[in-house]
Amino acid sequence: MAISSIFVVSDSTDVLTELCAGARSLANRVTAVVFSDEAGANALAGCGADSLFFCPTADAAPEDYASAIADEVKKESSAIVIVYNSIRGRQIAGKIGVYLDTAVLSSINEAEAADDKLFFRRVVYGGTAQRKEYFTKPYGVVTVGSGIFECNATGQTAASISPLTAAPQAGVKLVSRNEKTEGTVNLVAAKRIVDVGRGLAAEEDLAMCRSLAEALGGEVGCSRPVAENNKWMPKSSYLGITGVQVKPELLIALGVSGQVQHIGGINKSKVIVAINKDKAAPIFKNADFGLVGDMYKIVPALIEKL
Ligand SMILES: Cc1cc2nc3c(=O)[nH]c(=O)nc-3n(C[C@H](O)[C@H](O)[C@H](O)COP(=O)(O)OP(=O)(O)OC[C@H]3O[C@@H](n4cnc5c(N)ncnc54)[C@H](O)[C@@H]3O)c2cc1C
Repeated sequence: MAISSIFVVSDSTDVLTELCAGARSLANRVTAVVFSDEAGANALAGCGADSLFFCPTADAAPEDYASAIADEVKKESSAIVIVYNSIRGRQIAGKIGVYLDTAVLSSINEAEAADDKLFFRRVVYGGTAQRKEYFTKPYGVVTVGSGIFECNATGQTAASISPLTAAPQAGVKLVSRNEKTEGTVNLVAAKRIVDVGRGLAAEEDLAMCRSLAEALGGEVGCSRPVAENNKWMPKSSYLGITGVQVKPELLIALGVSGQVQHIGGINKSKVIVAINKDKAAPIFKNADFGLVGDMYKIVPALIEKL
């Protein structure tokens, strides 16, 4: 049974439709809150929400609107606030939780409506267990990453698009903003991903993985040690429960052992192909197709074939 009202708060427009589709499957009424000017909000009218609030960020940070968002939520007798699980989103979620005098459940990976309640599941203990929880207060705040909900566009167009009337409350003053020079990759939107693990022997061999991704028209992601320990790829590229959660049509895992923390970020992929020289590697339990062998022999052959 659906609950009455969900607010979707997202500092990324890329995931808004997906979060609204998820909210729509759980609640009768969906209200979206975006951080943009009026023109930007108008362009998001078809995101799947019944109504849309926009918060201009020319002179304010998204989290400065937490109190104003909470005021809007309090107009409902009960509601759940779904916040996109970005770094900024987690800050916003914490502040909204305070203003609503309720708890925040972070990084949920499943939501289910039953008996007039919303139950949430999330991975705990480093990926070895799952908790199922619900809010005992009228309001609750959860953070949700991409790839958790089905991204089906609902066809719903927002009946009203309006600015949040309460003024933003700034806790800090922005001094300057410098663009990141490191290339950014949108793994969440990628339809095909080459997922590189510690089976890669040297940083320069990434070129081979990039060639495979190019031949597939896809992007390159990696396991945490490749980004965090080797520092061969940006931290924003690693997949897993503490990294990016993806849902491509095809994911090719190269030299990835398949530890539970990594699997948590890729297991919603439509098709997983694993290439690993160890036939007992756990990745094969999660793969649709497995190739036991040396990636240094298989990948060049694959590129040639493609
Ligand atoms: C709290 C916590 C959170 C974590 N979160 C994440 C997370 O979000 N994402 C994440 O990725 N990890 C995470 N980890 C780390 C995770 O537990 C694993 O250590 C990590 O995923 C292993 O990465 P890997 O598979 O690349 O490396 P390894 O486990 O070292 O596996 C390398 C694999 O490559 C294979 N191989 C070697 N050479 C070749 C070759 N030439 N051809 C083919 N195969 C080859 C080997 O057989 C092996 O299976 C987390 C850990 C903790 C404790």
